[in-house]
Amino acid sequence: MDNCLFCKIIAGEIPSTKVFENEYVLAFRDINPQAPVHVLVVPKAHIPCMDAVNAENSVYVSKCFEAVAEIAAAEGLGSGYRVICNCGEDGGQTVMHLHFHLLGGVKLGEKML
Ligand code: 5GP
Ligand code: ZN
Repeated sequence: MDNCLFCKIIAGEIPSTKVFENEYVLAFRDINPQAPVHVLVVPKAHIPCMDAVNAENSVYVSKCFEAVAEIAAAEGLGSGYRVICNCGEDGGQTVMHLHFHLLGGVKLGEKML
């Protein structure tokens, strides 16, 4: 997808600090971390937001969640973490390529992001 920041990161056109990658998923550190561990778990298909998830592309979503479990373990988040997906303007989504924020490494407050 032209002009999509996360598609460019997936294509290697923009650098990122990668923490996990497979055929379906790329995960990298957020450039503006909101917690000691703040990883963006991103499907390697241009799904604009949660509204666009359907039976054809939902394998990418399940692969993202499988990756969350692996990344959380690798990042030492055994005492817990939070996963957030912002959708649309009112949800606070700023990059229109579906992604899941994995936050941890501290006792999180009631509100985050
Ligand atoms: P959203 O607000 O759409 O849920 O989350 C977008 C996230 O992408 C933000 O937390 C923001 O800090 C992060 N972000 C924006 N641009 C870049 C970038 O170029 N590289 C990385 N690693 N993260 C980015
Ligand atoms: Zn994209």
